[in-house]
Amino acid sequence: MQRAVVVILDGLRRDFVTAARTPYLAQFAAQAVSFPEFRTAFPSATRAVSASFATGCHPARHTLQGNAVALLEDGTLVPHDVGRPDFLAHKRAVTGHALAAPTLSERVAPHGGAILFNNVSPGAANAHDPDAHGHIYQRTFSRGPGGAAVADPLRVTLDATGDRAMTDRFIAEALLRKPALAVLWLGEPDHIQHDVPLGSPEHLAVLREADRNAGAVMAAVEQQRAAGDDVLLIVGSDHGHETVSGAIDVEAELVTAGLKDGPDSTDVLALSNGTSSLIYLHPSRESRRVRLQRYLQDQPWAGLVVATEDLGTIGQAPLYGLAFAVSLKADETVNDYGVPGCSLIAVPRWDKKVRPGCGQHGGLGRYEQSPVLMIEGAGFSGGTRRFGTAHIVDLAPTILRHLGLSAGGTDGHAWQI
Ligand SMILES: [Zn+2]
Repeated sequence: MQRAVVVILDGLRRDFVTAARTPYLAQFAAQAVSFPEFRTAFPSATRAVSASFATGCHPARHTLQGNAVALLEDGTLVPHDVGRPDFLAHKRAVTGHALAAPTLSERVAPHGGAILFNNVSPGAANAHDPDAHGHIYQRTFSRGPGGAAVADPLRVTLDATGDRAMTDRFIAEALLRKPALAVLWLGEPDHIQHDVPLGSPEHLAVLREADRNAGAVMAAVEQQRAAGDDVLLIVGSDHGHETVSGAIDVEAELVTAGLKDGPDSTDVLALSNGTSSLIYLHPSRESRRVRLQRYLQDQPWAGLVVATEDLGTIGQAPLYGLAFAVSLKADETVNDYGVPGCSLIAVPRWDKKVRPGCGQHGGLGRYEQSPVLMIEGAGFSGGTRRFGTAHIVDLAPTILRHLGLSAGGTDGHAWQI
């Protein structure tokens, strides 16, 4: 019986996988295939990346553009927090679809089904399966196919303790039910990395717990293989983190520069996705596009400004008024714990907490674009390293090939074995 099991340690940087810090992951690397050039989507933000993992498509195709996005609703640009549990239902009502590409849960529904255990935001969990083809167990909502209630909803905290309880349930329930696809998406180490410095003792203690959870799944999968199951085991992360070096209120800057009418105006919206900003321009303000672009390109806080016609190069498209993407300035500065990689962030619209010296992500910085990927199973073994292009959108086709299903309509490619 062919099955796939995926464990995601949210926010884990590739350079944090060492024998001392993550002994279970390091041991797994010695028997799996690792991808030292693995990259994630833009923005490197969990909700958009979740949709890219689930569909094998870039945001340009699945149309969930970020963690914070705008939609054109009755001629008005409306900003939205994608983390809210009801956002994708709202997007379906506005645009005709929650995601414009089929998810793994939809594809495997007639072939053994999918079960997701997820301890990040409700919106990120929903992005795996917004049309309810499989099971989702998230700490604030759980549901079965068709949105059916489940007898045993997941109720855990967003921390290492909650992740551990979720992992125990994942092993006892999701693995034993043997769906075609079982996904465990841990909230750590992302959650702690937003609150403490990268490499600090508090961070490393939680990272060890996340590593232990991954190790428990590895051991359980090994038992199932010994009983004859053909399991492809994927262990990785959705993005890394950079250290926050400062914060820019991009919307306020645009107002000061005379490029946005006022703080609450909807002519131009700059929506923070952590270390990046998605900038939307209302169609009636088209004449402002050139000035906006020049202004953004001149700003010392803008690391990379992607113009409308170049959005495709980062997997985006000019949908819903998206005009520019900005990855804020990042550099190689080393923090107090010897961890390289700092970036400015864009001040968020809803959660105003800015924590200089702690971790963040969302842009194209070197370390936030250095997540972890290791695959073990049929065709993937031996502790080898596979150099070359490897992207989050390649995971879905690789999983589908293992399951003997078509990956038609995805942007990614199954890795050669
Ligand atoms: Zn994440």
